Amino acid sequence: MRAWRLHDTDGPDSYRLDEIPDPEPGPGEVRIAMRISALNHLDLWMSKGLPRPEHLPHITGADGAGVIDAVGEGVDPSRVGEEVIINPSTSCGTCPQCLAGEIVFCRRFGILGEHSPGTLAERTVVPAVNAVPKPPHLDWETAGSFGLATGTAYRMLRRARLRAGEVLLVVGVGGGVSSAAALLGRAMGARVFVTSRRDDKIAWAVERGAEGGFASDSEFSKELKAKAGRGADVVVENVGPATWDQSLRSLAPGGRVVVCGSTSGTKVELSMPVLFFKQLEVIGSTMFTHGEFNEVLDLVARGVVDPPVTTFPFDRLPEALALLEAGDQLGKVALTHA
Ligand SMILES: [Zn+2]
Repeated sequence: MRAWRLHDTDGPDSYRLDEIPDPEPGPGEVRIAMRISALNHLDLWMSKGLPRPEHLPHITGADGAGVIDAVGEGVDPSRVGEEVIINPSTSCGTCPQCLAGEIVFCRRFGILGEHSPGTLAERTVVPAVNAVPKPPHLDWETAGSFGLATGTAYRMLRRARLRAGEVLLVVGVGGGVSSAAALLGRAMGARVFVTSRRDDKIAWAVERGAEGGFASDSEFSKELKAKAGRGADVVVENVGPATWDQSLRSLAPGGRVVVCGSTSGTKVELSMPVLFFKQLEVIGSTMFTHGEFNEVLDLVARGVVDPPVTTFPFDRLPEALALLEAGDQLGKVALTHA
């Protein structure tokens, strides 16, 4: 089969399209002939050694969908031919956290493509539990793309306890997680506002039910309060230092800022008096449980949220990565298999 493999960590040019033997499913695993392989920022970060794969060459890629074409020992052989979506959250499955369904707290929690060979290949082997039946009417592009980003956004909003009628501000709405957060927030009945560096992304969010949008490099906290009539109950923030100060200023008293990443740097400042006088909460979140994945799949399958996707043919990964790196895309970027 053909697979995009990282041979080094010198940036996106470290990916090479290789011809390698098909992987064989082990006990409890299935092999999937991929129809869609979707990208995440993780695929860019890993090409720069953040983190460096344990072994090189390495196949990255967390998201995808396809058809089971082989099963390992202990897996029902009738699953061959089943159309499935890959859930990228992996864990040991036996520790107390896993048994309680809170796999994100498992000591062996991992992301497909980071800790094991991923989806940027013509065939991918995953634990059978990670191959989730694809609703028949759901198109392949959406099925193979929404997983990591929409699941992450969903857990963020849950952890931030977003309720109907509350004001939600999504900072930097173009990316996969942020665009999904805007759609999910609207579906949950929140009043959604967004920021972006680009007018077309703000226009997209407004078309999808956001009440307004502001430039990410403006004093958007003031603009939000003018437009919404009050501060935000919840801010979804994964930009980091570039927008952190404005994000905190945007919060209403008792507001919650929820963070799943930090694309503009790793350190921010926090004014302690602002934190305690305004009784703010800073909430971290990463990935999602199997239960959350299934709830998100239900929302996507019913068309309540439909995250946007831009596709390229499988052999054009470099162009797809360049688009992702430039931040020019809206939502997800994915590779299609002929
Ligand atoms: Zn575990």
